[in-house]
Amino acid sequence: MAQILDGKAIAADLRSRVAVGVRDFVARRGRRPGLDVVIVGDDPASQVYVRNKAKACEEVGMRGEVHRRPGDITQAELLALVHSLCARDDVDGVLVQLPLPKHLDETAVLDAIDPRRDVDGFHPMNAGALLSGRPALVPCTPLGCMRMLDHAKVSLDGARAIVIGRSNIVGKPAGLLLLARNATVTLAHSRTRDLAARCAESDVVVAAVGRAGLVRGDWIKPGAVVLDVGINRGADGKLVGDVAYDEAAERASWITPVPGGVGPMTIACLLENTLRAAWMRAGLPLPELPL
Ligand code: NDP
Repeated sequence: MAQILDGKAIAADLRSRVAVGVRDFVARRGRRPGLDVVIVGDDPASQVYVRNKAKACEEVGMRGEVHRRPGDITQAELLALVHSLCARDDVDGVLVQLPLPKHLDETAVLDAIDPRRDVDGFHPMNAGALLSGRPALVPCTPLGCMRMLDHAKVSLDGARAIVIGRSNIVGKPAGLLLLARNATVTLAHSRTRDLAARCAESDVVVAAVGRAGLVRGDWIKPGAVVLDVGINRGADGKLVGDVAYDEAAERASWITPVPGGVGPMTIACLLENTLRAAWMRAGLPLPELPL
């Protein structure tokens, strides 16, 4: 039976480390690191996410501020807001909550964020840095996956890893991070043939698809480590992952639950990235954060 990778506990540990780094930053610079979150429109789920992000900042001693704008904001007005935030010295991280209303050009808005303040790690400069092995700010969810693997002391050197899903925010960066740690990586997607067989030969499985229970127990190599990024609403309204948890837990050595697995790590890594951005911009050596 697999051991559970408890995202809540690992995230709490990371947050307390971030809080120490925040206190150190305040002592040296005389101000708190700050994250500014922009939200457009009134999507209830997005409202909850941004509130939680700002609250998490305050809890570790950072400044967390939400900038709410109406759903009919123009592209020019939104770009002006992003530019004005990125020009402020007390703003270390800028995050634009997605999705944006259809009339706005999401790519152009994300590209307008100063790469040094791009705590989501979605800017092409940061994506390129990750690709060329010079990671600056790395997307939070894949970073959270790596933190969990490190917590479980999983040896990635030479391991076979499969990432199911190739989005820019999860799948691709997760694959690159695993590659950077010397795993032999398969990036699978909707056109992949023999997905079950590719999975069954993998020591590490990262599922980031958005299909409830896609990964079955018999796809899991005995002893493999399973990270389930997927968040899906089951028929009974409960949250479930992409992995058939009970079946997979019979064979895996470690597995993340949903909820309470990768999810809490994402927000803890956002805090880590904000602190990292503050330290980098201040030209200070980075504090030791990895678990
Ligand atoms: P996307 O929809 O952008 O990407 C999904 C990927 O899954 C695509 O690459 C797609 O392939 C692939 N895919 C779809 N169907 C299959 C299939 N049957 N077999 C194999 N691959 C398939 O999703 P995201 O990357 O944004 O998110 C993935 C999941 O992770 C979602 O459930 C999301 O809610 C969750 N998530 C969780 C987070 C957390 O904090 N825990 C944060 C971010 C996301 P193709 O490219 O060929 O279309």
